[in-house]
Amino acid sequence: MKRAICLLMICAMLLLAGCVRQTRETVFAMDTVMDLQIWGADSKAAVQTVKELIQDAEKTWSAHDPDSILHGENPSHALLDRALELQEQTHGAFDPQLYALTSLWGKNRVPTQEEINTAQAEKQWDLGGAVKGYAGYLAAEALSSLQVSHAILNLGGNIQTYGNKPDGTPWSIGIQNPDGGDYLGVVSVVGTMAVVTSGDYQRYFEADGVRYHHILDPQTGAPAQSGLRSVTVICRDGLTADAFSTALFVMGLEKGSQFWRQRDDFEAVFITDDGTIYATQGAGLSGCEYEVIAREN
Ligand code: AMP
Ligand code: MG
Repeated sequence: MKRAICLLMICAMLLLAGCVRQTRETVFAMDTVMDLQIWGADSKAAVQTVKELIQDAEKTWSAHDPDSILHGENPSHALLDRALELQEQTHGAFDPQLYALTSLWGKNRVPTQEEINTAQAEKQWDLGGAVKGYAGYLAAEALSSLQVSHAILNLGGNIQTYGNKPDGTPWSIGIQNPDGGDYLGVVSVVGTMAVVTSGDYQRYFEADGVRYHHILDPQTGAPAQSGLRSVTVICRDGLTADAFSTALFVMGLEKGSQFWRQRDDFEAVFITDDGTIYATQGAGLSGCEYEVIAREN
C-alpha cells in the first residue's frame, strides 16, 4: 500500500513538473529594456499579463503624457499618498514632485542658476524614481493570483523576484560595475523580493568633461554629489525599494547608513566614488571584497 502511494506521489510530481513551462520575453517600456522570465503552467499568459500591466502603469504614471493621471486636476491616488509618505520618511531626499527640474536637466545641457531656482519652486509630479519598482510590486501581486511558480523580472535594472528559483536555491542578482563590464558582486535573495539600483551611469550627459547624471538633490536642484556611484536596495516591497534607492543615492554613505540603522525593512549596497563597496549586515552580498555596515557604529 505504502509503495503504491509513493509511486502515485512520484507520478503526480512528474506530471506537475511537466506542466511547469518557462516563458521569457523582452519588452521595451518606461524608456528601458525589460526582461520577463516566468515559470508556471500558463507562463505565456502570465508574461502577457505582466507586459500589459507594465504598459498600463507606464501610461497611467507618465510625467510626459498629457493623458496620464499626473496631468489631471488635483490628481488623487493611493500611490501619490504613498509617494508623499516616502518623501517624508526620507526627509525629502526622495521627492516625487521634481518634474520641472528633471525636465530642465533632461534637455542635456547645464541650466543657469536662475532656471534651476525657478524650476525648484514648482511642484509637478514625476514618479520616475519609483514607478519601475511600483510596477514590480504590481507584477508580483498579479503573479500570486496566476498559476506561476517562479519569476524573475528585470525592469531596467529594477529586479523583482517571485517565489524561489526553480532549482530551490536563492536568486543571485548581480551588482553592476558602474564603469561597465562584469558584475562586481552578487546579492542572494530568497522568495519574493525587489532588488533596485540607482546609479550615476544609468542616465547622464557630459559637458566640459563633467558627468551630469539623472538623480537630483532636491536641496540644490542639481545632480546629487554625495560621493556615490550607485546604491542597491533589497526590500520586500518594490515601490519602497525604488524610492529608497533614489533617496539613499542623494543622502550618500553616512546619512544612508544612519537611515538604514533606524529601520528594519531593507538592506543596501553602496559603491563610492573611489570604487569601495559597502554593504549592510543583512545584504547577502558575495563575490567581492566589501566593508560591512553594522547596526551599531
Ligand atoms: P532612479 O533611477 O530610480 O534613481 O530614479 C531616477 C529618476 O527619478 C530620474 O530620472 C527622475 O525622473 C526622478 N528623480 C530624480 N531625482 C529624484 C529625487 N531626488 N527624488 C525622486 N525622484 C527623482
Ligand atoms: Mg529609484
